[in-house]
Amino acid sequence: MSDLRELYQETILDHGKRPRNHRRPATFNHEADGHNPLCGDKIHVYLDLDEAGRVRDLSFEGKGCAISQASASMMTEALRGMPVAEAEKLYHKFHALLTTGEVPDADEEPELGKLEMLGGVREFPMRVKCATLAWHTFEAALRGEAAPVTTD
Ligand code: ZN
Repeated sequence: MSDLRELYQETILDHGKRPRNHRRPATFNHEADGHNPLCGDKIHVYLDLDEAGRVRDLSFEGKGCAISQASASMMTEALRGMPVAEAEKLYHKFHALLTTGEVPDADEEPELGKLEMLGGVREFPMRVKCATLAWHTFEAALRGEAAPVTTD
């Protein structure tokens, strides 16, 4: 069990140190700013949706703690190619994992997969907002909100 925990942490650390899709893309049609004042994490999410409502591209810029960067990085990998309706389902599952630890319909698609590794954050309430910031910001980009979202 402790080996498993270490492996999980390594994956999170790796994503934190070398975030995937950390860039401003040439093409996108949705974007939003997010801010977690509790920790100082800031993020800007770029989303490119195709005509069928699928996530064609998803990337981010910003600075923050390792958890916020890792979570954003893992989110971009998880949501790429996914229809928006599925992405929203995954967001609700992820949110449930981090807040209650009980994920409704955990075995149904889309599965959490690697995102489950971030479940340990639940034990550190301050960190939950770091881990959900990217997802809040993704939602804001979907809705086309101009004002920055905060985790408060
Ligand atoms: Zn943070």
